[in-house]
Amino acid sequence: MNARWALWRLRDGARAGLPATQTPLLDVEGTCPVCDQETRFQAWDPWLRDSFICVRCHSVPRQRAFYTVLERVCPNWRDLEVHESSPSESSGKLARECRNYTATQYDPSLPPGGQGPGWRNENLEAQTFADGSFDLVITQDVFEHLFEPDRAIAEIARTLRPGGLHIGTAPLARAGLPSVRRARRTADGAVEHLDQPLHHANPIDEQGSLVTIDWGYDIADYFDAHGGLNTTIHALDDLSRGIRGALLEVLVSRKAAPPTL
Ligand SMILES: [Zn+2]
Repeated sequence: MNARWALWRLRDGARAGLPATQTPLLDVEGTCPVCDQETRFQAWDPWLRDSFICVRCHSVPRQRAFYTVLERVCPNWRDLEVHESSPSESSGKLARECRNYTATQYDPSLPPGGQGPGWRNENLEAQTFADGSFDLVITQDVFEHLFEPDRAIAEIARTLRPGGLHIGTAPLARAGLPSVRRARRTADGAVEHLDQPLHHANPIDEQGSLVTIDWGYDIADYFDAHGGLNTTIHALDDLSRGIRGALLEVLVSRKAAPPTL
């Protein structure tokens, strides 16, 4: 076992409280939608969402589901004007291959619209982009961390051109049950926890990102109600692309285009 695998097993095994295994639980050949290589997908931990890794690019299943849906619903994505909020390692492909790609992160200490290292500073809930700036807006595992997701999806809709798409992932942990708040902001700006605080890893914040909402499938109706969009949930299971596990749904929302006569 090389050092990278050892480190990864230590981290994920420790978090899940599971013993390391000597052989992978799952080990299949396939084509990776993130690195576009013939590869192997291997999992050493039963929580496949975080552990079923492409041995070439180390992508996880939700990232491979995202790129698979992107190619299907928006095959000309490389030619479009694209905004991605809070990109992750797998976003390198978007940054390299899109002709017009803007990455944003949010640092409240920097001026809105200012420049950070490799990204523009934007609050997804109150953006400085002009109306109709983008053909495609991407959010990968962002919406479960927002305090005002209604404002965020309205802003995404505002900055999309007619006919434009929002494509995103979020863990829809509640499935068919109603979405529930885990945390909210009070009138004085403090964070009020309505459930045990839960954090996900954040590449620009060692503390991680607080999970504010456990979403269910009703997120599609929520996006449509607050963004005026038309949202479909794509649920993929395809071992040949390394897509297997829980919470891999991809959301595709379209902004209506005016009718053509
Ligand atoms: Zn890969």
